[in-house]
Amino acid sequence: MTEQQKKDIITLREEGISYSDISARIDIPLNTVKSFYRRHKGSKTLSCKNCGKKFTQPPGTREKKFCSDSCRLKWWNAHRDIVNKKAIYSYRCAYCGVMFRAYGNTHRKYCSRDCYAADRFKGDHGDE
Ligand SMILES: [Zn+2]
Ligand SMILES: [Zn+2]
Repeated sequence: MTEQQKKDIITLREEGISYSDISARIDIPLNTVKSFYRRHKGSKTLSCKNCGKKFTQPPGTREKKFCSDSCRLKWWNAHRDIVNKKAIYSYRCAYCGVMFRAYGNTHRKYCSRDCYAADRFKGDHGDE
């Protein structure tokens, strides 16, 4: 079956032409027409997150977000910042004990500069 014949089956069927008429018109066995159209109906039309191109997803497969691998790569490259920002780490401040979050694995020990300064200098006054 050629791409053109596949398109013809879809168009003719959507115009309400019967399977046997389609089969006769484009010279494809009746069962092939039927099974192709059923498969077509079961597939979802999705649009690519990167280029917006419509593509069909065969039934029973995992939902894809991109029409091709190159679109997937382009999108991830363009959105690298957003993707990385998902990596939020939680830390407990070494001075005041408050939990805080930081983007990326920064190994921060303090929730603020004040805590950093306070913890650093608190010992200096011990022997007064
Ligand atoms: Zn695409
Ligand atoms: Zn703190």
